Amino acid sequence: MKLYNSATRTREEFVPNHPDIVKMYTCGPTVYHFAHIGNLRSYIMEDVLEKYLRFIGYNVKRVMNITDVGHLASDGDTGEDKMLKGARREHKSVMDIAKYYTDAFFADCAKLNIKRPDVVEPATNCIHEYVKVINRLVDTNYAYRAGGNVYFDTSKLKSYYVFNDFREEDLAVGVREGVEADDNKKNRNDFALWFTKSKFEDQALKWDSPWGVGYPGWHIECSCISMKHLGEDIDIHCGGIDNAFPHHTNEIAQSEAYLGHKWCNFWVHVAHLNTPDGKMSKSKGEFLTVSLLEEKGYDPLAYRFFCLQSHYRKSLVFTWENLDNASGAYNKLIQKIAALDPDDGETDGAALEEYRDRFISAMDNDLNTSMGVTFLYDALKAKTNGKTKLQIIAEADRVLSLGLMEKSGELRKKNAAAKPVKAEFTVIPEDGNEDGDIKARLIARMEAKKAKDFAGADAIREALRAEGIEITDIPGGVRWKRV
Ligand code: AMP
Ligand code: ZN
Repeated sequence: MKLYNSATRTREEFVPNHPDIVKMYTCGPTVYHFAHIGNLRSYIMEDVLEKYLRFIGYNVKRVMNITDVGHLASDGDTGEDKMLKGARREHKSVMDIAKYYTDAFFADCAKLNIKRPDVVEPATNCIHEYVKVINRLVDTNYAYRAGGNVYFDTSKLKSYYVFNDFREEDLAVGVREGVEADDNKKNRNDFALWFTKSKFEDQALKWDSPWGVGYPGWHIECSCISMKHLGEDIDIHCGGIDNAFPHHTNEIAQSEAYLGHKWCNFWVHVAHLNTPDGKMSKSKGEFLTVSLLEEKGYDPLAYRFFCLQSHYRKSLVFTWENLDNASGAYNKLIQKIAALDPDDGETDGAALEEYRDRFISAMDNDLNTSMGVTFLYDALKAKTNGKTKLQIIAEADRVLSLGLMEKSGELRKKNAAAKPVKAEFTVIPEDGNEDGDIKARLIARMEAKKAKDFAGADAIREALRAEGIEITDIPGGVRWKRV
């Protein structure tokens, strides 16, 4: 498979470090609010990547953190902890907020057919790991103490800007968003590993550490959770493009300083979902959620379809009109699949194989899901029987997860139930006296005719005539009388 690697800025052949397993890490949500559909775009595309790797035969172990502490209002280590802000907004405790929005996140994921990663780890579970890693970074002079906090010293690295397709002004996190710079830092891009002093003395969750009672920085969480569950190297690290800097850049800095070797091979970044007037953002207060889509009558899977229609590296603009178009196309696709007859023919192995290859060549091309969607329409037109077409579509949907088989199956059943039942064959005795034996023989004659067994049908007619029964065919049945 060819996969674009943000670290090398090229499409590379994907080869895992270990032949038997792909180790995949995903930055999880900061659970201070509902996920917006932009966040979920990233998780949908990462889900497709995981499922596709499994489809082509890899074992995948995927780990995701839940950020329930340490993600500050500004990625530049200033501002209040987002969790604390959420708790204050809702007059609840930080842990209550974390639980509520973690559950809400996975409920949204379920509606979007996003598989739960193999390991989901809340950041507050791993304090011991952060302390261990920060300790070594301090011992080896990659980290320093200042103003009560512990910072990573970016000047100690040979190269820091790993994803350096950024503009210099975008990198100035310390002065971005009108946030004042942190005077404790020796270098502009140094970042906090452990806080004991912040302007916000009411930080809810704090733990003891060699540097005083405090809490971890956001970046160290992902490095340590990844190492805890995936060991000292990983194949793929994913996240939305906003995480490339500073979050992922800092993850690489501290992980490689700690490990003394390369940490992650492939960096996969999903481009943003934007609204026509800019970036979708939780901190703006009003944002689009899966529940809102449902309230407006949209199937969440129509949103998944909308996302898959575009390549994950292209930013995508959300408008209701765009979603309407995707939703219309999605429903039509289900109708077309429902019109296929599962009992039509036997499995056509050659067609199945040909189409599997076609699907793989679409998706092998840097996870080209828009070609994956086009593939479904091609499969509908395949020169093979209905049963095989359904099998082709079912295979692709193991990766695309658009619920195509379930939804088309339900629709097919509904259509069959709504069809008028064929009028029964009527047998009318002219004298009004029913005769079960004659009726059964006349029904058998009718069935023989239907099956084009005309000789059989004639034989029944002749036998009845020999018994003095004369018959007259009428629309939908037959009349008979004794002569
Ligand atoms: P957060 O909950 O803010 O930590 O973000 C969760 C995930 O959503 C991260 O991978 C972000 O990079 C990603 N993300 C944030 N905003 C967007 C957006 N507008 N479109 C796509 N992904 C996003
Ligand atoms: Zn992360």
